[in-house]
Amino acid sequence: MPILMFHYVTSRADQLPQDSNNINIVTFENELKALKSQGYTTVSGTDAQKILTTKEKPSDKMIWLTFDDGSVTMYTDIFPLLKKYNMHATNFIITGFVNKAQGGILSWEQIKEMKASGLVDFGSHTVSHPDLGTQTLEAQRTELEQSKADLDKNLNQQTNMICYPAGGYNQNTLSLSTELGYKFGLLDPGRNGAVAQAAKESDGLLTLPRFRMMSSTTAEEMMQMIQPATDYNEKNK
Ligand SMILES: [Zn+2]
Repeated sequence: MPILMFHYVTSRADQLPQDSNNINIVTFENELKALKSQGYTTVSGTDAQKILTTKEKPSDKMIWLTFDDGSVTMYTDIFPLLKKYNMHATNFIITGFVNKAQGGILSWEQIKEMKASGLVDFGSHTVSHPDLGTQTLEAQRTELEQSKADLDKNLNQQTNMICYPAGGYNQNTLSLSTELGYKFGLLDPGRNGAVAQAAKESDGLLTLPRFRMMSSTTAEEMMQMIQPATDYNEKNK
């Protein structure tokens, strides 16, 4: 199953970081329309976990939309489109940024409202977004443990998904994640040897690869990226 990695989507580009992660809302809506018209099912985090660990397949064309960093555009721009097309997504939250009400970041109220819709679910992207691979064991423990505790408490859930900031991790990260109750971990393509390809259980559930969606990625390019996974699923029904 392909996993797409997004960050921000907006119609007000001037209010956001001018970087390749900032996707214009028109481009993003075209991507959602392309997925819909080609018959793709966007899965929730829970569905994704089932698909990756069992033979259960809701369809031969499945895709997991993931968003990093808990940008407020998840609420202002992306969520309305998910509702419009009835599509699912997962957002990875930097809990320390939410707790200090950092500008451009979602509030717990917005996060709770999106979760209640059933269209968006949430995992950890640590407390303060460090590259975990460069951190001491104890610093990593704090990042992984506190962010999970905050998400568990605020969303009344057992958080079991971790997205490593900037794709940074080491062996300690993986053992700590397991010890603390994380079962699914997401990488950044191009970091730490991660390759952009469809995710499968044999990748290791704590080291799942993704495809990076950038401001310059068109809907056509996105469909080309995910086509090999779809071909494989259709051949192996
Ligand atoms: Zn991030």
